[in-house]
Amino acid sequence: MTDEKKVVRKELETSKDMKKFMADYYLELDHASQTGERKIAWCTSVGPAELLRGMGFLVYFPETHSAMLGSTRAAMDYIPHANALGYAPEICSYLTSDVGAFTQGFTPLTKSFGIKSVPKPDVLVFNTNQCRDVQDWFAWYGRKFNAPVVGVRTYRGVKEVTDSHIISIAKQIENLIQPLEQVAGKKFDMDEFQRAVALSRECSDLWKQVLETAAAMPSPLTFFDGTTLMGPAVVGRGTQAANDFYRKLLAELQERAYNHDGAVADERFRIYWEGMPIWGRLRAHSELFANLKSCVLASTYCNSWIFTALDPNDPFNSMARAYTELFIVRSDEAKEQYIKRMFEFFRVDGIVYHNARTCPNNSNSRYGMPQRLEANSGVPALVIDGDLNDLRCLSDEQTNTNIEAFVERLAGK
Ligand code: SF4
Repeated sequence: MTDEKKVVRKELETSKDMKKFMADYYLELDHASQTGERKIAWCTSVGPAELLRGMGFLVYFPETHSAMLGSTRAAMDYIPHANALGYAPEICSYLTSDVGAFTQGFTPLTKSFGIKSVPKPDVLVFNTNQCRDVQDWFAWYGRKFNAPVVGVRTYRGVKEVTDSHIISIAKQIENLIQPLEQVAGKKFDMDEFQRAVALSRECSDLWKQVLETAAAMPSPLTFFDGTTLMGPAVVGRGTQAANDFYRKLLAELQERAYNHDGAVADERFRIYWEGMPIWGRLRAHSELFANLKSCVLASTYCNSWIFTALDPNDPFNSMARAYTELFIVRSDEAKEQYIKRMFEFFRVDGIVYHNARTCPNNSNSRYGMPQRLEANSGVPALVIDGDLNDLRCLSDEQTNTNIEAFVERLAGK
């Protein structure tokens, strides 16, 4: 039922600023890595970035590098090299593609920005709030670079976030200060830390507003745009540059919404995406849905960099809360309530769950959630099998057929 005529994707003007933001970000890291002028901390994507920025580190996020390996479809060439080191094909394909690429001296940063290698870490800082894989991933690089690895070991499957969770996590964040001071070679400064938390909170609020423009009918934004536009929220939260970028993006999207200028021409159906993107198929999926006049307009994934709890007046506790209230940390019950709120807010017609084979942490279709949510919300669900980076887990033909049949089902409804 795909239309013969291909739908033209509408680029956002602000996308150009995004490319410059990412280039500046990586070039600054590369310069620091080569000259040693600034210390570099590696951080997990929902790790304690505010503390690191407040202590003067430049912060590098390997997951974003892995997403580049995925979106450029280079990941497949390098996963086997990590498998050969004992990192199984079934574990996180961000980890395996990143480690594999490093062993072969490859980085997509070379083609994009002329950078020869990922920046050398002075310290690696994780939070296991998303999964255990990040700890193993950072441990590998810690051994490789002979750099200290420190982190926060957090709760999982949390139904309600309580004071005891917050006290424990806040203490762990505070305990990072002493080893980080040793690496930074300077004392922790509370004012600088609070400033980073304030900037990060502002970034979070702006990013939330950006994503919420998708509630307009038609939506000015798609999930596929969002996976790229979220770059500054992931790697730049806690910096003024990220906030400047989102202010401009927000203005463009608000104008689009005001003019009823939909991201998908003739939007008929509004779809929520649950789970990771399939990075190597972003464009293909964006076009597939657009040709079906269906706008995938909101997702748990892009929402994961909204940290509304951050409060510069209570930085440790508020960081503990922000990084524990996250969807990925929560129980199925809490997750289902959250998704139902998203259905209502974005006026969703259907939901697609991506069962990412190498990321059980970001796959919520394995324990009956699609069936439960469909039964008590009435919103039809589809589960597609795939992966974030390992395209061997994906059948394009089957995915396309299933999505087309799903949209027909929505039309019938
Ligand atoms: S959450 Fe999933 S994709 Fe992200 S690092 Fe962990 S296992 Fe990998």
